[in-house]
Amino acid sequence: MNEIIRNPKAGATNGSLDPQDWSAFRDLAHRMLDEAIDGIANVRARPVWQPIPNEVRAAIRTDVPREATDLADVYREFSEHVAPYATGNVHPGFMGWVHGGGTAVGMVAEMLAAGLNANLAGRDHMPIEVERQIVEWMRGLFGFPQGASGIFVTGTSVANLMAVLVARTNALGTLARQHGIGSDGALLTAYASKAAHGCISRAMDIAGFGTDALRKIEVDADHRIDVAAMRARIAVDREVGFKPFLVTASAGTVDIGAIDDLRAIAELCREEGIWFHVDGAFGALAILSPELAPLLDGIALADSIALDFHKWGQVPYDAGFLLVRDGERHRQAFAQPAAYLSREARGLAAGTVWPCDLGPDLSRGFRALKTWFTLKTFGTDRLGEVIARSCALARYLETRVLAEPRLELLAPVNLNIVCFRYRAADAVNREIVADVQESGIAAPSSTILHGKFAIRAAIVNHRTAESDIDALVAAVIRFGMQRTGGLIEVEAPPLAAR
Ligand SMILES: *Cc1c(COP(=O)(O)O)cnc(C)c1O
Repeated sequence: MNEIIRNPKAGATNGSLDPQDWSAFRDLAHRMLDEAIDGIANVRARPVWQPIPNEVRAAIRTDVPREATDLADVYREFSEHVAPYATGNVHPGFMGWVHGGGTAVGMVAEMLAAGLNANLAGRDHMPIEVERQIVEWMRGLFGFPQGASGIFVTGTSVANLMAVLVARTNALGTLARQHGIGSDGALLTAYASKAAHGCISRAMDIAGFGTDALRKIEVDADHRIDVAAMRARIAVDREVGFKPFLVTASAGTVDIGAIDDLRAIAELCREEGIWFHVDGAFGALAILSPELAPLLDGIALADSIALDFHKWGQVPYDAGFLLVRDGERHRQAFAQPAAYLSREARGLAAGTVWPCDLGPDLSRGFRALKTWFTLKTFGTDRLGEVIARSCALARYLETRVLAEPRLELLAPVNLNIVCFRYRAADAVNREIVADVQESGIAAPSSTILHGKFAIRAAIVNHRTAESDIDALVAAVIRFGMQRTGGLIEVEAPPLAAR
């Protein structure tokens, strides 16, 4: 059947956007690839991050480019003005927020995906099967039953929002999709800890419940949600007529990496008939490490899990993911009949359920490919070792902080996040963080803990080594001393006594 078909030489077009001279394009493209590989291979030779000079900012401000520019010139602009001033999270000294480092493998996979230019809204093609295979792998890893479903999204912010929407449809029935959340919806209440990520309250806002409908429950000294307090709040809410419908547990809080007691929360949710969602943005992939997986005990009982492959999974941005225990409930929250999306038994329109039935996106890129390459090329054991190593490095930083009288540890080190400060005023520490970032030596971020400004180092990048931790500590001390003239704030126990 296949030979009907076309003379491959016929109909070559001049009007297309393809290169006029493929061989010249090929040479330049190879150079771009080589230089992109060099950029990763030699990343240590560069500053982690550098401030953008005004000339550079100005250089790319032009009118809409109506005329063509040579690819080589556009590439030169990229090399001079864009690439040197990127976030820096490829660099092993990057410890700010929770950023993955990416890999060379992920980079080339992303290039291959762009070559296919597949649209993973739906239809019957292998890229969809690759995404389905990753759903299967995640289903297995997290101990979810057959019939679970999953989907790639931009990130956990969107995955958490989708979990709210699935839980909403589960609570109110599918008619709520037609009529809106109405007066029943106005009574729905959700629960998360005070340490939960801000995107959870934003999800409540976007979903139409308002942020007040999210009850922010107290945490204990280790920043884990106080389950008894949550149980009590649920009881109070029920008594006055609210309808608790969703608990979002944190598996790795953004401040300090705390993991809520997932098993106890699962039990509470089962007793109360409440949807149990886990925000595992970075922490969920600790499941890959035999040493860390026990911390996630109970995650297999979740109704849904949000996670990011672009953080601890080291997949290049972006690669968020939502896994839902009951695939039918997941579909009910998003599927929508449309004549132009009708499904057929054969041909390209076969192969339902389509990803567009499982989320708000129609057109979707092939995020699954870079994830598939990453999981297969390194193997999940190796990725688990990388995750465990970043926790070991965090413990190393903890010991360095504890051994250094000018530094103070501000939170227990649960996983891969260390919060500390130079013993000086908040304002000084704020300057120190900016000093260290601008020095290009390291890039920590900051947070506020118990009212104190904290320098926060989240070790996520697989390239980070002990020497990078040492460089961070040395830089914080150096800038701290510069800013204070060596004077340090004395707190009990008096430092002089040591
Ligand atoms: C990063 C993070 C998020 C948000 O995920 P994005 O991928 O940035 O959208 C949510 N929760 C936690 C705990 C996170 O660390």
